[in-house]
Amino acid sequence: MYPTFNTTTSSSNPLFDVIVIGSGIGGLVTATQLAAKKAKVLVLERYLIPGGSAGYFERQGYRFDVGASMIFGLGDNGTTNLLTRALKAVNVNQQTITDPVQIHYHLPNGLDIKVDRVYDNFLQNLIAYFRHEEKGIRRFYDECWKVFNCLNTIDLLSLEEPRYLMRVFFQHPLACLGLAKYLPQNVGDVARRYIKDPQLLKFIDMECYCWSVVPANMTPMINAGMVFSDRHYGGVNYPKGGVGQIAQKLVEGLEKAGGKIQYQARVTKIITEQGRAVAVQLANGQVYRGKRIVSNATRWDTFEKLLPVEKIPNNEKKWQQRYQKSPSFLSLHIGVKQSVLPTGTECHHIVLEDWEKMAAPTGTIFVSIPTLLDPDLAPAGYHIIHAFTPHWIDDWQGLSASEYEAKKEEAAWQIIDRLEKIFPGLDAGLDYLEVGTPRTHRRFLGREDGTYGPIPRRKLRGLLGMPFNRTAIPGLYCVGDSTFPGQGLNAVAFSGFACAHRIAVDLGF
Ligand SMILES: Cc1cc2nc3c(=O)[nH]c(=O)nc-3n(C[C@H](O)[C@H](O)[C@H](O)COP(=O)(O)OP(=O)(O)OC[C@H]3O[C@@H](n4cnc5c(N)ncnc54)[C@H](O)[C@@H]3O)c2cc1C
Repeated sequence: MYPTFNTTTSSSNPLFDVIVIGSGIGGLVTATQLAAKKAKVLVLERYLIPGGSAGYFERQGYRFDVGASMIFGLGDNGTTNLLTRALKAVNVNQQTITDPVQIHYHLPNGLDIKVDRVYDNFLQNLIAYFRHEEKGIRRFYDECWKVFNCLNTIDLLSLEEPRYLMRVFFQHPLACLGLAKYLPQNVGDVARRYIKDPQLLKFIDMECYCWSVVPANMTPMINAGMVFSDRHYGGVNYPKGGVGQIAQKLVEGLEKAGGKIQYQARVTKIITEQGRAVAVQLANGQVYRGKRIVSNATRWDTFEKLLPVEKIPNNEKKWQQRYQKSPSFLSLHIGVKQSVLPTGTECHHIVLEDWEKMAAPTGTIFVSIPTLLDPDLAPAGYHIIHAFTPHWIDDWQGLSASEYEAKKEEAAWQIIDRLEKIFPGLDAGLDYLEVGTPRTHRRFLGREDGTYGPIPRRKLRGLLGMPFNRTAIPGLYCVGDSTFPGQGLNAVAFSGFACAHRIAVDLGF
């Protein structure tokens, strides 16, 4: 148990250098980076385990990933393998399993494409469907490599730190100029320069939508450069033991480095004195003071719940005019007999029957079968299938308990029926089924409306509108998917590196 302060205490000697609200990957990377620099760090997590959307739960011998399971950033080379670097910084190690195919797409009009880890194989698979666009395909994806190559030559730290920017600029002027060029661009504009076939442009939309949850014309080119190239460079690598291991290992490293984490510690208030964030208060009334406060909660939770909503800073209001909450998901966590999956089944699938429905609720189904990479996550003879599809919380509000259960069941069976087309016998081979709704995501992940994160309300200039880590409130920083560069484990790790770097400079570490 840590010493606590009364809210009225005006101690000029704060106990912690940094308090991090939340132990998602963004929060944990910030915490571990700072602890490794000998800062006194306390992480406060409302739930029982760390990880947030990268957490896990266990049922009847199955270990299910809560959300993420297509993991970038666990590679060995370059500078963009931020999860590997974050783990290494606190002397912990995570065994990984290489995924030979990033995604197997099952798309309208029989478009059946595998994104092979080997770049040329992927190009051949795509060109086989669009021979007349071979040149355009190569030029588009090669342009994505240009973005990636720029990112992959520089140390990815805080873009809010002028001395770092100067240093990086003098060391790698061409890479910096390259990134500055792509920062305001979106994928759709670049794709349209090279590609004309409407069906192929729809495919590029889906290539973006499946991680940005918006089509190509609203997806920043910087993020696409990372995803479309790193899948062939560092690759997609699954952590042995499940995605939850990443957070567990980061916590192990945090504690080894002298940092602390407290679970079931829900922060209800960020306390300010003369406009400066100085402390946090938990649901049980305990108050912890810190020289710097970092929120890993979403921006909506941070500025509308942990701080008085009537005092929301102007720049946050403006940000909310540009970005909105994406929908949440309906998630099916399925245990199934091994015999249901034919030999050669890939780990990740995207299923869509009608292009018009790509971004509609239940339109696109995302599927992960992590036991194809790590069989130990399920009892012998069984696999895990995690299938999820976008859903808005509004559709799940105001229901009685029985209506809620009935709606869950109906929605789940509609998804299973659609999946039967690629996995015949799924229904008959079902061993376990647990259904999560946007309400589940809100409750267990502590995310407003269970949202996956911010998406642009309209077409914006690439990533220029995404906020960095500092906020309008002195002493308060944000980290995670509602800061630059957005959603995804490697992206929030980037945000964590940047946040820790900025704080370390501010505190003189
Ligand atoms: C279904 C699904 C599938 C996904 N698939 C992938 C994928 O395949 N690959 C990929 O890279 N990404 C994927 N993502 C996205 C990725 O998981 C997220 O972008 C990332 O994990 C977000 O991390 P974060 O640090 O921003 O915050 P979060 O994971 O949201 O963590 C925030 C933490 O803060 C805690 N918290 C919040 N409020 C408080 C409070 N008041 N007091 C104390 N603690 C608090 C929460 O409990 C939580 O632990 C997926 C997400 C979902 C939901």
